[in-house]
Amino acid sequence: MLSFVYQSAPSRVIFGAGCLDKLPEEIQKLGATKALVLSTPEQRQSGLDMVARLGLRAAGLFDRAVMHVPIETAQAAREEAQRLGADCCVAVGGGSTTGLAKAIALVSTLPILAVPTTYAGSEMTPIWGITEGGRKTTGRDIRVLPKTVLYDPCLTVTMPATLSATSGMNSIAHCVEALYAEEANPIVSLMAEEGIRAFAQSLPVVVKQPGNLEARSQALYAAWLGGIALGTVGMALHHKLCHTLGGTFNLPHAETHTVVLPHAVAYNTPASPEAMARIARALGARSAAEGLYDLAASLGAPTSLAALGMQAGDLDRAADIAVQNPYYNPRPITRDGIRALLQNAWEGRRP
Ligand code: NAD
Repeated sequence: MLSFVYQSAPSRVIFGAGCLDKLPEEIQKLGATKALVLSTPEQRQSGLDMVARLGLRAAGLFDRAVMHVPIETAQAAREEAQRLGADCCVAVGGGSTTGLAKAIALVSTLPILAVPTTYAGSEMTPIWGITEGGRKTTGRDIRVLPKTVLYDPCLTVTMPATLSATSGMNSIAHCVEALYAEEANPIVSLMAEEGIRAFAQSLPVVVKQPGNLEARSQALYAAWLGGIALGTVGMALHHKLCHTLGGTFNLPHAETHTVVLPHAVAYNTPASPEAMARIARALGARSAAEGLYDLAASLGAPTSLAALGMQAGDLDRAADIAVQNPYYNPRPITRDGIRALLQNAWEGRRP
């Protein structure tokens, strides 16, 4: 019988090729007059483009965003925002840049306008993360949720094929775990299934023809849905494992998600038949786990933890850490079960 809680997050989304032209108008709608633009060093040119588009409404550019928001970078960006008298942040880039804007908003309440250029989905979540002394702390705070998001697929055509594939699989993971989340609800499940379907159809085209705007548009639409799923309901075993592997063994974020997902899904299959049927249907596959593995392989994405540089000797420690703190998962977590899952993921076995 149906029983659920559904709460939507207050954010304004503008979607479509060329919608970046609305940037000055949207900044004005936020009531902001001095926007600090944020980017990674690699996307400095995009940052400069935003500054040019904003004209007198730009306070400056901070182009030092890096993966996992080190506290030193967060402090430097906060000081720069204060020095320039910024009254909002424009984050152009992937999860690393959006994450830096969130670190500023967490202590200043400056509103964020996000312009995502990957499929990570951070722009739709109230989740922040900051790394200090090698440890990443994460939390939820509505103040860090971007107020406005401009999804312009034109900005994603420069995303390399490998990043497109792994970033897309990372977002599919948000959709997959939303379908068997503790707080799963009919609205988010609709979005999650649709997100998987739109990715399964668009990613193979995106990887072969990175400039195909129709496919890029479908993939970015799917990423939006994945972001909502991640931001609205809690995640489970897959995200916990990836957090452990990324944090303790320094494995790359999106690639780790890509490799682990089919195996986490295989583990949870006996406990969530309805969710698995929806995932398989969205992928057009016989089973959810096989379909996810085959999709990643067909995109040329990595399929084993060994290929990501993880040592076989670290698998026992990874299993120990993954079972330390209890968390929700549809199937009970056992040390032996997780160790076997990790072995399969390390070898890159088709589930
Ligand atoms: P990223 O932001 O680190 O980007 C990876 C690299 O690709 C960077 O050099 C970036 O400049 C470049 N890049 C991005 N878009 C590009 C484009 N269109 N063309 C060319 N180059 C481009 O990668 P990511 O996977 O988007 O983000 C990963 C980070 O985001 C992790 O730290 C993860 O923990 C975090 N994250 C947070 C949330 C959340 O809700 N808080 C959600 C998802 C991910």
